[in-house]
Amino acid sequence: MSRLLIDDYDVAFFDLDGVIYLGPVAVDGALAAVTGVRSRGTRVIYVTNNASRSAQQVADHLSELGFVATPDDLVTSAQVAADILSRELPQGARILVAGSPNLVNLMTETGFVVVTSADEEPDAVIQGYDPQMTWPRLNEAAIAIQRGAVWYATNNDSTLPNDRGILPGLGAAINAVGNTVDIRPTVFGKPFRPMLDFALAKTGAERPIFVGDRIDTDIEGANNAGMASLFVFTGVHGKADLVAASAGARPSAIGSDVGALLQPHRSVTLSDGRAECGAAVALSSEGEVKIESLADDLPGQLDALWAIAQLAWTDPSLNTESALARLSDLR
Ligand SMILES: [Mg+2]
Repeated sequence: MSRLLIDDYDVAFFDLDGVIYLGPVAVDGALAAVTGVRSRGTRVIYVTNNASRSAQQVADHLSELGFVATPDDLVTSAQVAADILSRELPQGARILVAGSPNLVNLMTETGFVVVTSADEEPDAVIQGYDPQMTWPRLNEAAIAIQRGAVWYATNNDSTLPNDRGILPGLGAAINAVGNTVDIRPTVFGKPFRPMLDFALAKTGAERPIFVGDRIDTDIEGANNAGMASLFVFTGVHGKADLVAASAGARPSAIGSDVGALLQPHRSVTLSDGRAECGAAVALSSEGEVKIESLADDLPGQLDALWAIAQLAWTDPSLNTESALARLSDLR
């Protein structure tokens, strides 16, 4: 049996939205791929910045979609927040939660007194994603922060993909408050270290890989934590985002979806402005990346994209627009 990408790793961490599911529906091929990964003996952990649901609720959702998942297979940004705040704030501190009922419950269970008004003099404010968020609750958060409450947020994803399109994420609500109070919160979720450090400590992973759909949270977060990463095209970001990724936000592998874990690693030979990947060849010439050779199916386009990316990352001033336009099967 040939060596597959997953064979290099002992734990696979999966982002959820845009990787495993899109809102209520599973991403095509995700179930078969995750089942295949588990059958090769690799531990599977789901890691989500979305703090609106409890680990049990997310595990139930995954189970309904056919995945094997218990709360122990999950890491949520709300868990990470509870873990860190239990050490940073005194027991019984007053905390204003601008987030979901799940986050309220978790803060209460952690031993904090949850308040709903800035007039109750909270010591801290925590924001988390809540699909029912209202302006009056953001107002209370903004007032409490102006009065000196310490400000935290579970994550700061600017957008949230679902099956109908892309929705405003928690980052939009943080910006609404941040533009008012003119400071920024401490954030726990990807791409910041606390979340992935928590995930690594939980599993004792030695050769971890993170699979995600966002350059600025998943991939940058994996790099921040020293983990390998697989970027997939089933969620928010696409080929232009990949090619434009800054040095700290570049994945170690790409695939159309999580099924890439069960395929051989895609490697590039790079020399003198020429990048070869499989049958694809890309060249840099006169400030532009050009495709010299391309097998025009999806795997061939991924090979070409990986070659283009290596050239663009070597020289970010190169124009990749026309080369990327030829990869019509990739978003
Ligand atoms: Mg995602």
